[in-house]
Amino acid sequence: MTFKNILAYAKSLDEKDPLAKYRSEFNFPKVNGKDAIYFTGNSLGLQPKRAVEYVNEVMKDWGELAVEGHFYADKPWWDYHERFREPLSAIVGALPEEITVMNTLTVNLHLMMISFYKPTAQRYKIICEEKAFPSDQYMIQSQVKVHGLDPKETIIEVKRRKGEHNFRTEDILAAIEEAGEELALVLMGGLNYYTGQVLDIEKITASAQEQGAKVGWDLAHAAGNIELKLHEWNVDFAAWCSYKYMNAGPGSASGCFVHERYHDDESIVRLGGWWGHNKEKRFLMEQDFDPIHSADGWQISNPSILSLAPYLASVEMFAEVGMKALIEKRDKITAYLEFVLQDIANEEQASYEVITPQNSSERGSQVSLFLHGKGKNLFKYLMEQGVIVDWREPNVVRLAPVPLYTSYEDVFNFGQILKKASRII
Ligand SMILES: *Cc1c(COP(=O)(O)O)cnc(C)c1O
Repeated sequence: MTFKNILAYAKSLDEKDPLAKYRSEFNFPKVNGKDAIYFTGNSLGLQPKRAVEYVNEVMKDWGELAVEGHFYADKPWWDYHERFREPLSAIVGALPEEITVMNTLTVNLHLMMISFYKPTAQRYKIICEEKAFPSDQYMIQSQVKVHGLDPKETIIEVKRRKGEHNFRTEDILAAIEEAGEELALVLMGGLNYYTGQVLDIEKITASAQEQGAKVGWDLAHAAGNIELKLHEWNVDFAAWCSYKYMNAGPGSASGCFVHERYHDDESIVRLGGWWGHNKEKRFLMEQDFDPIHSADGWQISNPSILSLAPYLASVEMFAEVGMKALIEKRDKITAYLEFVLQDIANEEQASYEVITPQNSSERGSQVSLFLHGKGKNLFKYLMEQGVIVDWREPNVVRLAPVPLYTSYEDVFNFGQILKKASRII
């Protein structure tokens, strides 16, 4: 595809864009009185106007019905979370009963580790990636300590090769093979939050399972961004947050996948609570825990409906659009952003380097730029000019053109601002 770094051309792409109409469904922050160019949907997605309606609906039901809202609200609270099954299963490639929504991401990963990390004297090691998202590192270290083990001897971090920004699948597979019968669990980020690299979830899962290990994925940056087939890829468990590409608002509920083969597996221990108990008998207040025969059997508390409401509005929008159309635009707009960056780099001899893989099957809608030299001043300039981007130490700016609300014109305008910046900074 040949692009042009020209306003009229960007506008023509917007005119042909089947998703363009969704832009008006979101509230944009303003900078200098104008809608910002928002490139941080990978960190906190914009607010869908429908989310405001859904939250207001819960507030209204609470005011008008109080406790009766559990059963008599338009969307009753006692099974509100079940509304996510169908739309979320389409987003992450799961069976509807393999999906549940509860808690927040790190909490869900803890719960999953309680169920799926059962170290023995022979099999206890965990593989993750080097420099994983800090919350994941803390989570894994603390789980290891819960079992009385030493994180240093238990956690194997797969490294990038010297001078390379991305992981090589062959290196991950080699680490798995080397750990062999000592390997209990592989738990990695499906889409690296720093570089935007997508890992080969299917291959890594199969290879670790061949060694007899369980495999879980943190899909914080992957859910709602890349094609996933969790069921088909035979993943054991996965969890993701809803407030990044899924636009459900700060700290909203997390989605969780548990493969169906575990739903009735009594050897898998889970932390119990009344919301995971047989739904028909939930209010009988019986003594014995009888877990629901689906991922809902991992629920503990009655979920925060105010946190589910914006997420529901958002997943319904995803269901309407479909991942296929979303991914088509994602690939095109990400490629356009890359083209504009390259065009400006050529013209201005700018010194930045894209560290995100170029192949569209190895990335989502994120381009990470390593800034040689300019660093923070450039970041500050962009922010002042109304481009909301994200800075990660030591020298990386992450740009996420989100297919639901970023326009090609945004990308063009960003390029113009970057060009000016290259001249004055
Ligand atoms: C965003 C993110 C988190 C956030 O965890 P919370 O529990 O929602 O605060 C965790 N892991 C990864 C990889 C992330 O990108």
